[in-house]
Amino acid sequence: MATPAANPTSSDPPLDGLGRPLGVLRLSLTARCNLACPYCLPDEQEPPGLLSLEQRHAVVQAAVALGAHSLRLTGGEPLLHSQLERLIEAVQPLRTRGLRDIALTSNGTLLSAKRARALRAAGLDRITLSLDGADGTSVARMAGLSDATAGERTLAAVQAAIGHARDAGFDPAAGALKLNAVIQRGRNDDQLLPLAELCRGQGLELRLIEYMDVGSRNGWSPADVVSASEMTERIGSRWPLEAFERDLHSTSRRWRYRDGTGGIAVVASVSEPFCGDCNRLRVTADGVAYTCLFAAPSSGLDLQPWLQPSADPTGLEQALTQLWHSRRDRYSEERQASPGGHHHAEMAYLGG
Ligand code: SAM
Ligand code: SF4
Repeated sequence: MATPAANPTSSDPPLDGLGRPLGVLRLSLTARCNLACPYCLPDEQEPPGLLSLEQRHAVVQAAVALGAHSLRLTGGEPLLHSQLERLIEAVQPLRTRGLRDIALTSNGTLLSAKRARALRAAGLDRITLSLDGADGTSVARMAGLSDATAGERTLAAVQAAIGHARDAGFDPAAGALKLNAVIQRGRNDDQLLPLAELCRGQGLELRLIEYMDVGSRNGWSPADVVSASEMTERIGSRWPLEAFERDLHSTSRRWRYRDGTGGIAVVASVSEPFCGDCNRLRVTADGVAYTCLFAAPSSGLDLQPWLQPSADPTGLEQALTQLWHSRRDRYSEERQASPGGHHHAEMAYLGG
């Protein structure tokens, strides 16, 4: 595990070693998942020492004190976590201290109408669902399911989840409901147009994610990556597109359809790295803080010592401040200069 650097400084929100502020906390609630997408391959067991609700609240509070305005709850599959709604409720008072946005990333298969309403009532602002195909065979291949029938069931569940989320008040037109799709060459790149069509028909923004070399189990190769420019060219040749500039600190660049039917976004972490303004801190389900999605497993900072009942209440904030000060990660940019050879923590553990 990493140890924080020795010189904490002022009361201003900290900047990291490359001058980047903290803006987003991605908090993983579980490392487990009810799917086993081969590009992600989650652990079957939770790591020991999962954080309690109170400890998670303390982590969010400390991150907000350091400048985080956005909280994304993720996993593994966060809907497997029974206290998800309670956590969302518990962090609502932090809105008076700077927390502006609470979002969830989920595969959607467990999102019933009741759960969607409960999440909304608890104070969740936005949901991003993940779906990598628009037919049973493709969904099965991308989600690690046995056959097309299982894929069709999953597809139907996610489509129902889209309806439940919309009915519960997550309005796609306001950016409160989006769809993520990872695109892998030779596995689901034939789904680009069908996925775009599915989203266009429902007014959803489709967020196309370049297949990334997170973790070390998925056998990633640069040849499997479909670049953002290829994805937008292929969709744009069917439905002409117009680009927006990437917003500062955003992971994606947005495009709008020229015919006015909404738009797409592309996460070009491999082909067009955005390390220069990355403002994300990740904390795993067992309380390890990582300052980069592509971090080595051993580079995390275990926050448990500052989360014990006997710990100094200011210690957690100080530890995170020091960690942020010492942050110099720019892995995606470095990958472009010298590809290969890195050992990464797994995606479902880090929370994506
Ligand atoms: N289980 C939830 C889900 O699938 O939305 C949340 C966790 S998942 C790790 C978060 C996001 O990471 C998903 O949209 C998933 O498709 C994406 N993801 C996982 N592995 C990836 C990889 N190797 N490259 C790109 N995106 C990946
Ligand atoms: Fe599960 Fe999400 Fe990983 Fe797929 S991408 S295995 S749904 S955590």
